[in-house]
Amino acid sequence: MTQENLIIIGSGPAGLTAALYAARANLNPLLITGNELGGQIAITNEVENYPGFDSILGPELTEKMKEQAEKFGARFEYSSVTEVDLAKGSPFFLKTYNGEYQAKAMIVAAGASAKRLGIPGEEEFIGRGVSYCATCDGFFFKGKDVLVVGGGDSALQEGLFLTKYATQVRIVHRRNSLRAGEFLKARATENEKINFVWNTVLEEIRGNGAVQEVVAKNLTTGQMERLKTDGVFVFVGHFPNTQIFEGQLAMDENKFLVTDKYMQTSVPGVFAAGEVQDPIYKQAVSSAGQGCQAAISAERWLAAKGVE
Ligand code: NAP
Repeated sequence: MTQENLIIIGSGPAGLTAALYAARANLNPLLITGNELGGQIAITNEVENYPGFDSILGPELTEKMKEQAEKFGARFEYSSVTEVDLAKGSPFFLKTYNGEYQAKAMIVAAGASAKRLGIPGEEEFIGRGVSYCATCDGFFFKGKDVLVVGGGDSALQEGLFLTKYATQVRIVHRRNSLRAGEFLKARATENEKINFVWNTVLEEIRGNGAVQEVVAKNLTTGQMERLKTDGVFVFVGHFPNTQIFEGQLAMDENKFLVTDKYMQTSVPGVFAAGEVQDPIYKQAVSSAGQGCQAAISAERWLAAKGVE
């Protein structure tokens, strides 16, 4: 079993920033990337709200962060964590597809995944009309027509954001009443660019290189209808990637890890950063900031234990 000072789980902006700070603190961190280097930002086309970059492609931003962390000695394992055991405290046990580890401290930056509709065309048109992030992609729908799927706070909040660009935002919801809170409901209902398509689910997304139309089903009448549109924004909920920590780390009712202001989880020596513990801000820059905080806290925690 390999012994490590600090293992970072996840390679989104939170994990990569934690790796940079931990490497510069001479902790020789090992980062386990997860399925995809970069997490959600790596599936974002252009990033125009990361300070310091006018516009940068998500994968390029990821690569730059990784290279910067590597320059200071961070090591990367392209694998996923399959098992953790935190019960005995530090050192913590971890298993990946490649091997077994003991880590004196750990930073969980495993991110969150947007729930998908699971319909034909959805995967095919991601980045070409299908999006899970209005802040990231809304600008590209200037003067265009978009559909938003969902009836919760996210759908309404993101739908309202999209009215800054789109000519029309149709919110497609599977029921005839919204899950969202009253405040957002009132704002969305009052907005002239927003229309609701009730009792409706999408069955298919179609296009030719980019989204052109969807096939929608009215659940009351059973009738199928083709709706012309340029984009489909899906906000049917996010789930944090916390499954392997069930029963080991404290979570809120939506399974996000609970952290204090030092990014400390319920287990001393295990820190968390980014969307795995943040259901509110969910931005690359806020996740990076939390990664920095977690690394500084881990460094101080290890120093107090006598690990230099
Ligand atoms: P959510 O509250 O779980 O809402 C998800 C919505 O998607 C629901 O309307 C649900 O329909 C619909 N849905 C789920 N699966 C679907 C499917 N397969 N096909 C079609 N529709 C589907 O998720 P959220 O809106 O992301 O919010 C998550 C949490 O963050 C909530 O606690 C929310 O209050 C909070 N939040 C707050 C704010 C704010 O206060 N400004 C903003 C964003 C999020 P049903 O209603 O029929 O179940």
